[in-house]
Amino acid sequence: MPTLRAAAKSVLPGDPEEAASVSPSPDAWSFAAEHPDGYLAVGSVRDDSGALVDFRWVYANPAAEALMGMRLAGLLGHGVVELFPDLRTRGLFARLARAVDRGEPYVDEVLFPIDGRERWFRVVALQRGEGLSIWFNDISRRKREEQETGFLAEASHLLTASLDVEAALHELSRRCVPTLADGCVLQVMDGRGQPLLLETVASEPTQEALLAEVVRRSGSPSTGEAGLVGLLLPQDTPQLLPEVTPALLQSLTQDAEHLRLMRVLGPRSLLAVPLRARGRPLGALVLVTFCGRTFGPDDLRFCEDLADRIALSVDNVLLFREARLAVAQRDEFFTVAAHELRTPTTSLKLNVQSLLRGARRGEAGALPSPLLGKLEGIDRHAGRLNALVNELLDVTRIHAGRLRMDLEEVDLTALVQDVAARFELPATQARSPLLLESPGPVLGTWDRLRLEQVVTNLLSNALKYGAGKPVRVRVETSGGLARLEVRDEGIGIAPESLPRIFGRFERAVSDRHYGGLGLGLYITRQIVEALGGSVSVRSAPGAGATFTVELPRQATP
Ligand code: ADP
Repeated sequence: MPTLRAAAKSVLPGDPEEAASVSPSPDAWSFAAEHPDGYLAVGSVRDDSGALVDFRWVYANPAAEALMGMRLAGLLGHGVVELFPDLRTRGLFARLARAVDRGEPYVDEVLFPIDGRERWFRVVALQRGEGLSIWFNDISRRKREEQETGFLAEASHLLTASLDVEAALHELSRRCVPTLADGCVLQVMDGRGQPLLLETVASEPTQEALLAEVVRRSGSPSTGEAGLVGLLLPQDTPQLLPEVTPALLQSLTQDAEHLRLMRVLGPRSLLAVPLRARGRPLGALVLVTFCGRTFGPDDLRFCEDLADRIALSVDNVLLFREARLAVAQRDEFFTVAAHELRTPTTSLKLNVQSLLRGARRGEAGALPSPLLGKLEGIDRHAGRLNALVNELLDVTRIHAGRLRMDLEEVDLTALVQDVAARFELPATQARSPLLLESPGPVLGTWDRLRLEQVVTNLLSNALKYGAGKPVRVRVETSGGLARLEVRDEGIGIAPESLPRIFGRFERAVSDRHYGGLGLGLYITRQIVEALGGSVSVRSAPGAGATFTVELPRQATP
């Protein structure tokens, strides 16, 4: 720290009397005396060879004295570099010397220690005779805000760049040191309080190991909560401990050995903030200094900001992981449920059909027609049940990448006619005539059963959503492709729903009015794409829908 004594002892080349002579009457400085920025006038001190070796104080206005926290009047005539050797080590002297020698104005923002504290100053130095006029003001607050904003932006970028939140937090805790503190501890738990990550960082490896050991031994004696969270944040409120006193240090430790290690570590100032999101405690961020600076309310505020960002991204990732787990569990449930349901539904369907055939043939005598009707109803429902179970099974197969195509020569026109024939009854019940159009056979190499499934899905949708209007089916070849078009004049689809209806479990109608799982179009698209083709839709609300399937004639397995 510069002292007046050091300056008083300074021996400068040149005539000591000259010092007084360069300081003219107070009136000469009236322009700077009242100015809110610091103002210094310095003269050059040169050695015998004419080289600039120092500057001599000529004048300092009251603002400069206030900014530097010292009375400068008594230093007039003494050496500036001698008083502030940092001026030379930081390269500032060389830049000021250039301003004198070349007459170029020097404008800069510099970090400079005053009273042991690094502060930012904006400096403007202009040649003034054989010396300089230096204007300066303290821009530490602005610089600090800039740095904080930059750090927070960087932190946000890190935290949102990937879903690997552990890696991001590891990197972020490393960046906290030394920018924000000498040591950093980041403790993160998942939503159920299970440890997710513990980072301990210090600027130097032995200190880091010590910090880790101190943290490992920490915990709340009352709640038994491990780590720093229970200890430093018992009430879950941010803690600012500007000076860690010996008594405080003792209160933070568990036993004699812990205290000994803590003393060796020697925290000077501490900050601890909880990580919380949506009311869930997710851990704590602790910053510590070992010497030099102490934390204040501004540091606490910044640390809370940072903790909020960390907590938000941890929460997002946890939510994402929970959702992914739920989806995986749902998929597994579907697979098991579909397999379990398949055997009884298939057997139910076969038995009902056999009963129906027997009844129609009059095997047990003529069945009263209401009973026959009921049996037919059971048959329809069993068929529907079977189809739903098969849909679920298909989804699990697709998901597991097991949708195999058995290719053979197929006439798409004949296939569509077959399927349409099976839809005779449902079409009558839906009061939607099925109108087929085809110029003739459309041959290709495809998977027959899967293609039947595609036609079935599109026809059953056209009847379901077709509002009792005619459904037109067209098969043709176009530009070397086979094309199937299924057009209805029903309820249509809202434009915003069009992009998603081919997705899994996606539906664009209310469950109350129309039953279904939202899987038919998903499976359709998967089959068509597995055959190398594409499926698309054109529709508008109330104006019906047209689904078009295009297939290369020769599917490649
Ligand atoms: P589901 O019919 O079981 O809901 P799909 O995957 O077959 O499932 O269809 C997805 C959604 O697409 C349906 O819920 C419906 O909103 C819409 N959709 C499909 N076909 C038609 C159609 N022909 N007309 C109007 N909407 C349709």
